[in-house]
Amino acid sequence: MFLLALIVALCVSISVVVVTQLRRDPSWYKHAKFRCSIPNALAITFDDGPGRSTGEIIDKLDALGVKGTFFVNGRTATTDMTRPQTAALVRRAFESGHQIASHTLTHRDLTTLNATEVRDEMLHLEEVLYPVIGMRPRYMRPPYGRLSDLARRVIQALDYQIIIWNIDTNDWCVKHPHDSDASFEQYVKAMAQAPRDASFIALQHDVHPATNAAYVERVVAYAKAAGKRLVRMDECMGAPGTAYASQ
Ligand SMILES: [Zn+2]
Repeated sequence: MFLLALIVALCVSISVVVVTQLRRDPSWYKHAKFRCSIPNALAITFDDGPGRSTGEIIDKLDALGVKGTFFVNGRTATTDMTRPQTAALVRRAFESGHQIASHTLTHRDLTTLNATEVRDEMLHLEEVLYPVIGMRPRYMRPPYGRLSDLARRVIQALDYQIIIWNIDTNDWCVKHPHDSDASFEQYVKAMAQAPRDASFIALQHDVHPATNAAYVERVVAYAKAAGKRLVRMDECMGAPGTAYASQ
């Protein structure tokens, strides 16, 4: 128990440091979105999938009548978009009205890449995604929330909206399916500290066991009780219908 608390504390402090560093870098962060443009909204987002929890999360969101956003990868240790089962999950999320967005092809740290490599990470994901959903995403989140000004310029030249977050659930720190309390507490803390009509973009990962249907149900119930409207990323940006390009 003590060990778990220590791990969570470490994860939270690492995450705070990362976000603090991000926000001190004026060269690109002013081009990225950390919160919704509309008031009183919450965009629930999932990175790094499709993964072990994606199917049950889609089912739960559908049952609750809530649309989420999935920032997907094309080829990593945990996901491979060329596998039929993986592609089927993405197609199911898309057809249910959830937003599919880019988290790059292979989840490399974009600050370490040159312009051609950044472009490849973006365009090669589009190439594997297009046969699956017939669209090209127009929203992206850089892996690890890390970006250089060079990468930012390449990504914006490809006409992408860059999305970060203002609630980090740190769900990647907790491996046991019954230990999502710490992730849920990040919602409670963020909403308690913010103005009543504040909006949020919440980060979690559909590749971790604690980020499952029960967790999503709890988060949705809490957010609704707090009066939040649960939205996709394009709605969160006040620009519904801008999630994709069809060509
Ligand atoms: Zn990621």
